[in-house]
Amino acid sequence: MPIPFDPSLVLIAGQWRAGASVQRLPLLNPSDGSLLAQIARGNADDVDAAVVAAQAALAGDWGRLSAAERGRILLKMSAITLDRADELARLEALDVGKPLKQGRADAVALARYLEFYGGAADKVHGETIPFANGYTALTLREPHGVTGHIVPWNYPMQIIGRSVGAALAMGNACVLKPAEEACLSALAFGHIAREAGLPAGALNIVPGLGEEAGAALSAHPGVAHLSFTGSVAVGRLIQAAAALNVIPVTLELGGKSPQIVFADADLDAALPFLVNAGIQNAGQTCSAASRILVERAVFDEVRRRMAERYGALRVGPALDDPDVGPLISARQRATVQAYLALARDSGLAIAGQAVLPDSLPAGGCYVAPTLLAPCDPGHRLAQEEIFGPVQVMIPFEGEAQALAIANGTAYGLVAGVWTRDGGRQFRMARQLRCGQVFINNYGAGGGIELPFGGVKHSGHGREKGFEALYGFSSLKTVAIKHD
Ligand code: NAD
Repeated sequence: MPIPFDPSLVLIAGQWRAGASVQRLPLLNPSDGSLLAQIARGNADDVDAAVVAAQAALAGDWGRLSAAERGRILLKMSAITLDRADELARLEALDVGKPLKQGRADAVALARYLEFYGGAADKVHGETIPFANGYTALTLREPHGVTGHIVPWNYPMQIIGRSVGAALAMGNACVLKPAEEACLSALAFGHIAREAGLPAGALNIVPGLGEEAGAALSAHPGVAHLSFTGSVAVGRLIQAAAALNVIPVTLELGGKSPQIVFADADLDAALPFLVNAGIQNAGQTCSAASRILVERAVFDEVRRRMAERYGALRVGPALDDPDVGPLISARQRATVQAYLALARDSGLAIAGQAVLPDSLPAGGCYVAPTLLAPCDPGHRLAQEEIFGPVQVMIPFEGEAQALAIANGTAYGLVAGVWTRDGGRQFRMARQLRCGQVFINNYGAGGGIELPFGGVKHSGHGREKGFEALYGFSSLKTVAIKHD
């Protein structure tokens, strides 16, 4: 049976109900511009009800569960997610414009996060501390309480898995604010949670506009921790709101991540990663490899071989499962087109480009994937996050210059290095200023066990892996004097 959900509702205290406002927001299909659904325009009243429901869950059924019992529920949610992976992929294709294969991969990743955090729930523990005679001292890991989760539209399932999954494992009660552009899979996740027996109020979902529902959630005095994934501009607002309530915040923001190709690299192995990491999800990926740095000796060869791949990319509606689907919205397409116009006006050469077929639906938000080379490292296209299927290639000479260019943006999320030189692998890994470095691969296939997050304007705090469990818990020290 398909997930029986009505996308116009909010989930509060285990009940699907109409939002406090009768207003709705249209959800558009980016592949053809058609109206998909009307979603609730959640507001401050809905957020307040959701926080109250979460507090009640912590004081009630949810808070009483043991860590192992919480873990079992997450494992059940994982199994249901996996069973429904095709259905979730279809929802994501319609809503985000994500090619079916990628949507399915996201659903499988969500299931894997729930499996990982379900299994870990009863394996996070404190320590005993050798202290003064006559004392026993120990630490306890406790939930923060109500955690707020504000997620973007580009990878809803993966981001929910890594933040809500870890927060629930540690015993927090969550209020989730999905993005207004795409929230069907988030709502489906609410149904899966209820089907798996997650107690009422442990997960509440309030769709709505960022400046309404999102702002209300980030400012709510009942929220004890905020996890935000999105743009730098909004990240600043979230951190300011968290500062007023003096609560911890995890910021997973943007990036301008490089892949660095040295002349001794295995180019056959590197080539698919160089292109895929730029065009996956139509380039709307925080860790997209939007800068390709190539040592001069192999620059022309890499440019030619990347251009060949660009020419072969299939662009089309998400349900056709192309290599590249549409962008999320007409607004996002206009942003990317403005960057391409800037590239043209400043004389950047197009080294490779996919061809948009004539058959594309007129209302769809398509942009031809474009490779620009060579590009000056200081150019705006090499400095700013474009969030579209556009990559720039930058030539360099030697390690020192590669590092200076790679570290020379406001961001620091991910970097990839391709070289056979073992010493250089370590030197680069140590000196790149970012949250993750991949040597002779890029992304490690998602690597949900691997802590993820940024430095500089890419944010702070870590999600994924065990680190997320520490972030979603608070450490209490107990010292017992016994004689
Ligand atoms: P965005 O910041 O506009 O929106 C993200 C979320 O914040 C949405 O749910 C939105 O409703 C909400 N929001 C907007 N204004 C708000 C406000 N004033 N108060 C509270 N919430 C508010 O970002 P976007 O354009 O939807 O997403 C793209 C950005 O996200 C890119 O910069 C991308 O790099 C980043 N991103 C980062 C990661 C990561 O893990 N580092 C992952 C995915 C996306």
